[in-house]
Amino acid sequence: MADTATDRLAAVLADIRSAEAEQGRAAGAVTLIAVSKTFEADDIRPVLQAGQRVFGENRVQEAMGKWPGLRQEFSGIELHLIGPLQSNKAREAVATFDVIHTIDREKIARALKVEMLAQGRDLPCFIQVNTGEEPQKAGIAPKEADAFIRLCREDIGLTVIGLMCIPPVEEAPGPHFALLQKIATRNGLAQLSMGMSADYGIAVSFGATHVRVGSAIFGGRG
Ligand SMILES: *Cc1c(COP(=O)(O)O)cnc(C)c1O
Repeated sequence: MADTATDRLAAVLADIRSAEAEQGRAAGAVTLIAVSKTFEADDIRPVLQAGQRVFGENRVQEAMGKWPGLRQEFSGIELHLIGPLQSNKAREAVATFDVIHTIDREKIARALKVEMLAQGRDLPCFIQVNTGEEPQKAGIAPKEADAFIRLCREDIGLTVIGLMCIPPVEEAPGPHFALLQKIATRNGLAQLSMGMSADYGIAVSFGATHVRVGSAIFGGRG
């Protein structure tokens, strides 16, 4: 039985590799982002020791507290910001993270660009799309996505590599993943950040290139 984070990591990776094979995709086509939010460095360390290097956090402040130390212990860490960002945290975000998944407003896009130039760090970015058009949820509306992607790339000059979504919890995720893929394709974007613990297999079948998996690896967040 998979009862440690290391066992569960291996199980999730095996799942992803078999989903890739089923879809006729290359082994390693999908990057696993291990979402370590709410977990302490001591919980994360065994997963690093098992070889995982790509992690996701949803809060800048929390990430700043635990990742600089872990980066000193382990080389090759790639840290992804997967939570909403306030523009007054842009400096810390650019200094702490390697990839940003949650760009959805002009103000935050511009603040990040200013910081990337100031720090000489050109971070790859995903634009978050609110595929379910949920009023409380972050993300650009699907009908505004094309214009916003163009603004971020051409006007602001961000390195936009793909799109990210979080489907509504009470709906089947497939149609949301399909919509994200469609918007990405028509905008020439190759990367899709979609799929969490409950639905990463489905996400891979819809072309996910990055799955964000937390509780299936680290356990419940209580
Ligand atoms: C917490 C979180 C995840 C991981 O969720 P699990 O269900 O624990 O896998 C993925 N994406 C985002 C944006 C999150 O905030």
